[in-house]
Amino acid sequence: MGVRVRFAPSPSGSLHIGNVRTALFNWLFARKNNGIFILRIEDTDIERTYESAYSGILEDLAWLGLNWDEGPYKQSDRLDIYKSYAERFLKEGLAYKCFCSPEELEREREQALKEGKPPRYSGKCANLTEEEISRLESEGRSCSIRFRIPEDACFVVEDMIRGKIEFDVNAITGDFIILRSDGMPTYNFAVVIDDHLMKITHVIRGEDHLSNTPRQLLIYRALEAEPPVFAHLPMIVGSDHSKLSKREGSFSVKELREQGLLPEGVVNYLALLGWSPKEEEVKTLEELIEEFSLEDVSPSPSAYDPAKLRWINRQHILRLDGEKLLSYARPFLKEFENFPKEWLIKAILSIREYAETLKDIPEEIKKYYLNDISLDDKYREELLSGKKAIEVFLDLLKNAEDISDIDSLFKEAIKVSGLKGRRFYHPIRIALTGYESGPELVELIPILGKRKCIERLENSLRFLEAEK
Ligand code: GLU
Repeated sequence: MGVRVRFAPSPSGSLHIGNVRTALFNWLFARKNNGIFILRIEDTDIERTYESAYSGILEDLAWLGLNWDEGPYKQSDRLDIYKSYAERFLKEGLAYKCFCSPEELEREREQALKEGKPPRYSGKCANLTEEEISRLESEGRSCSIRFRIPEDACFVVEDMIRGKIEFDVNAITGDFIILRSDGMPTYNFAVVIDDHLMKITHVIRGEDHLSNTPRQLLIYRALEAEPPVFAHLPMIVGSDHSKLSKREGSFSVKELREQGLLPEGVVNYLALLGWSPKEEEVKTLEELIEEFSLEDVSPSPSAYDPAKLRWINRQHILRLDGEKLLSYARPFLKEFENFPKEWLIKAILSIREYAETLKDIPEEIKKYYLNDISLDDKYREELLSGKKAIEVFLDLLKNAEDISDIDSLFKEAIKVSGLKGRRFYHPIRIALTGYESGPELVELIPILGKRKCIERLENSLRFLEAEK
């Protein structure tokens, strides 16, 4: 059967980088194997679920370019399905009704903790007779449905990333709830029913779910179904290998987007958390599909490094074409709304090597093209020695009909002024920008425009005439 994988987030806020990495690895695995990528929203935990988070997930995935082939399915639309399976388990004796109240369960839990035992369900309702059940029901007592853990509940799993893992469910938990008294399925139950019905072949998810796997294996066994292949991805940790903390930066897709990261940069960086390509690390989604392999994912934790994320992002800023870069940068260019598109594209391309994120773009444009320049006294000597270059170039510029061919103007000015190389270009650059480095002059001058260039060059000459 062809590969079928799913990304199954709970809608509890904008996607976190951990979720996105899971989504990405599933997506890459599906695309690489010509498989199907399914989106399923696990929204049965009503308290944590809200509508805006649901639409946020869809937006985040669309922004990242991770398109899905099936879904989004919502677990809340499938409650009847879980209920019918819970009933089937009841009939088959694989599960039972539990009438214990939350207070009773809490008392048992406290008692166990006091005795230094792991808290687990006592099995009090495991062997109720038909009569007892009818009596409790006629009293109007609500019940949940618990899965009955058989004596032999040992499993060996060959995890694609972590290798062979052995589990003994009895060592981990007592009989666990699969359907709550309000009719809502628990995660471990719904996830297996769905993965089974959706014919999921590979479950690729965070290592934090490893402890859920044994309970899920039991449910597969109860369904007489072959479990999927599991691949548990390493955790993403902070730079000091502790849990990620706010100190390390932003973790939600929304925050990363607002900080001016490109989707290309985010997916490229996240692909490197756990997986490493053979050579070059900077990759497009297409290149990632080509090279990605789940077998090469390391089981050790991966450290989140915001500086590297920005570095990767910058590499993508350098690679994109102008139109695309402008469309990404638009939300950060509100104050440039009335600028002609062609001008903006040229300006962005000329300064992009100074931008790590899209947020840097408006600042760099202002720095070179819009802000008034104040010439620093430390440049006086240099400007003075290049005064001739400035004067000659200014003169030529004033008389030029067309400033698209700056190279010819420079050639002419070099000839007339007798200055060349750095002694020619450097003073002109300082006069035009106020800085020693920046965009190529042949790009900068047409973007700045003839009038502004003349103004700045004249200004530098006035600066030289003024008293120190
Ligand atoms: N809803 C779970 C989560 O958000 C999915 C876990 C799984 O993939 O099985 O973590």
